[in-house]
Amino acid sequence: MKALLIIGDGMADRPLKELGWKTPLEVARKPSMNHLASVGVCGIMDIIAPGVPPGSDTATLALLGYDAFHVYSGRGAFEALGWGIKVLDSDVCFRCNFATIDENFMVLDRRAGRIADADAAKLAESLKAIKISAPLVKFLFANTVQHRAVLVLRGSKLSSAISDSDPGTVGEKVLEIKPLDESVEAKFTAGILNELTQKFHEILKEHPVNKERVARGQPPANIILLRGAGTLPKIKPIGEIYGVDATCVAATSLIRGVCKTAGMHLLDVEGATGTAQTNYMAKAKAAVKALEKSDFVLLHVKAPDVASHDGNIKQKVEVIEKIDRMLAYILNKADLGETYVTLTADHTTSCVTGNHEGDPVPLAIMGPYVRGDDVEEFGERTCAKGGLGRLKGKDLMPILMNFLGKVKKFGA
Ligand SMILES: [Zn+2]
Repeated sequence: MKALLIIGDGMADRPLKELGWKTPLEVARKPSMNHLASVGVCGIMDIIAPGVPPGSDTATLALLGYDAFHVYSGRGAFEALGWGIKVLDSDVCFRCNFATIDENFMVLDRRAGRIADADAAKLAESLKAIKISAPLVKFLFANTVQHRAVLVLRGSKLSSAISDSDPGTVGEKVLEIKPLDESVEAKFTAGILNELTQKFHEILKEHPVNKERVARGQPPANIILLRGAGTLPKIKPIGEIYGVDATCVAATSLIRGVCKTAGMHLLDVEGATGTAQTNYMAKAKAAVKALEKSDFVLLHVKAPDVASHDGNIKQKVEVIEKIDRMLAYILNKADLGETYVTLTADHTTSCVTGNHEGDPVPLAIMGPYVRGDDVEEFGERTCAKGGLGRLKGKDLMPILMNFLGKVKKFGA
């Protein structure tokens, strides 16, 4: 037996006035999701705990069966790993944004107009020559998708107990990075990062790419904002816990990093971008193919979360319908006599607030020996009436692995 877990990032939502107080999932045309719900068993999940808004990283850890409160050590290392950087135990990693500031360091655009990859790559290249004044510390900087980038600090006596430079909102000044504890290491690390921020800015503000951007009427990417300092979490790979071979199909580096940490294989899929324009069908094909080799496959689609953060209700409904067509392909091509197919979201993302919210998410599992229930439609409210009731995110993996016969008996 095999298991496929499909995660629509931020796919759950709250009822919206614009949709007659229905959610995007409730109004979307989604025959395949409804089929899954009607033949399968449904429920809702508090991914972390009731009322706690999950990050995509902690949510994915939970959905892979880990206690995120226990193992989470910051976002940065997942981003770096997911981008293919080999992260060492002593490294401190950050998630970064190319952003736009004015001459007073006031943030004008946290995404530098969602700068194109080609521009970001040229800017990133020019930062490599920078030297840190502390001789034993090196840094690696890489642009990833659009305005996103990762920074890895490497050396001894570093600490992740430091604050962000990213103020999180437009109209505020870039923050000075501060130590969050009394240690020499935290103070030392904060000092290096403030120095790097200044040196990055000096190169970026004079860079020809930015001069061209300004000439074209685009915001210059003249600062790197840092956040989410993290180290490599120490977790036991899924393969060791359950004795399964596991594969991840995801474009987003954060999710790839989490899955890599969990010991999963990462697939590269042509046209999978982590945006609303991703190649849904290519991902579906890759997932079905991966099921030939792997016992457990995670298929992650970032698009609904992107639409929600932008408050774009219409786009959210459209991407849910695209995920439905992706699911149709999977249900058509996968060996359903041998496969448990699960659909859920990693968290609720509200189109009104543009934020992750702590509301539970819907869940449906279909497969050969699933005890079905009376739920006929996949949605936040319908699934609440399902046979799985209300679970925590970390309960899902044991449930799936039990279907695969991979959970050890407790007791005699
Ligand atoms: Zn997410």
